[in-house]
Amino acid sequence: MTYKTPFNKPYLTGKETHYMYDAVSTGKISGNGKYTKMCQDFFEKQYGFGKCMLTTSCTDALEMAAILIDIKSGDEVIMPSYTFVSTANAFILRGAKVVFLDSRKDHPGMNEDEIESLITEKTKAIVLVHYAGVACDMDKIMDVANKHNLYVIEDAAQAVDSYYTNKHGEKKALGSIGHLAAFSFHETKNIISGEGGMLVINDSQFSDRAEIIWEKGTNRSSFFRGEVDKYGWVDMGSSFLPSEIIASFLWAQLENLKDIQNQRKKIWNLYYEGISEWANKNNIQLPYVPKFATNNAHMFYLVFNSIKDRSKAIEKLKDSSILSVFHYLSLHDSQYYKSKHDGRILGESDRYSNQLLRLPMYYELSNDQVTEVINRLKELKY
Ligand SMILES: *Cc1c(COP(=O)(O)O)cnc(C)c1O
Repeated sequence: MTYKTPFNKPYLTGKETHYMYDAVSTGKISGNGKYTKMCQDFFEKQYGFGKCMLTTSCTDALEMAAILIDIKSGDEVIMPSYTFVSTANAFILRGAKVVFLDSRKDHPGMNEDEIESLITEKTKAIVLVHYAGVACDMDKIMDVANKHNLYVIEDAAQAVDSYYTNKHGEKKALGSIGHLAAFSFHETKNIISGEGGMLVINDSQFSDRAEIIWEKGTNRSSFFRGEVDKYGWVDMGSSFLPSEIIASFLWAQLENLKDIQNQRKKIWNLYYEGISEWANKNNIQLPYVPKFATNNAHMFYLVFNSIKDRSKAIEKLKDSSILSVFHYLSLHDSQYYKSKHDGRILGESDRYSNQLLRLPMYYELSNDQVTEVINRLKELKY
């Protein structure tokens, strides 16, 4: 079924095919060429990231992270249950046991206060997710991690161009704080390349090995820089780097990042202003942005009081050819992981699984469309 107002529509700046043509015509279309370097430099300079490496997805970036911190069978990794499967899969693939956190009451993001009680001798890392591009409480997480000597990996898939203000009043880009961070450029994210992602290495002990793992376990990158005479197999690895065709597409998006972000924030604010009064009156939970966080307008969601209330809203919007969708199903309760979960009840995560609804959110969504979504919802009384 096609909708008059779909949930997402990938935005093209118009320059994508121009740069893709350029990449193809230079004759270098495999990975780690001109556009890959331009994109990586952009992120390093713009956001104060450590070494940036484009990957074919955020999933791949997370898998690289799991290899880099040397996850082995029996290691435990703490992460939220209310997240995408890739957050967990990357570590499961290397034999880790995943220990799930519940969500916060005021926000679908993970409850940072639970972390310390779940740490055991086997815990190796905390994988946090900046849900909706809104920062986790990074001071809290880094303090616990430092105290227990754990790695911190930011799943920043949704968090491009968003910030955290720490206890010293310093504003840090999300993805610049943990030892490692992973971004996504999937077509459902703010900045896109169809499929695509990036690993950020803020702890330089991982930099050299990351290049090797990225290039199938070879020292090809140092060979091309003239640092070694020949290249060979020096470590385990895989093919994690995207082609220049993908990187050139991404470059067109990065050139327009400011415009894309401004437009999305305008839409987000229209929703918030238009819907707050109705939501408050009907006891519906609105997106929450803590004082230490910024909003990158990745997502606009509402949390209803029951599945039934949410279904009513989905149906109401569908009647006007508007597609709204729910989000994650708690991973601790999934078919795959249920029997491996330690049995703790994660009530908030389940609540968001059952009651959170995401509204259409994309660059080309018009003011009239936003107004229509708001007006249709306002016809509902709970
Ligand atoms: C989108 C997303 C991913 C996966 O990104 P891909 O680039 O599709 O692999 C991982 N984690 C979170 C939180 C996401 O939102």
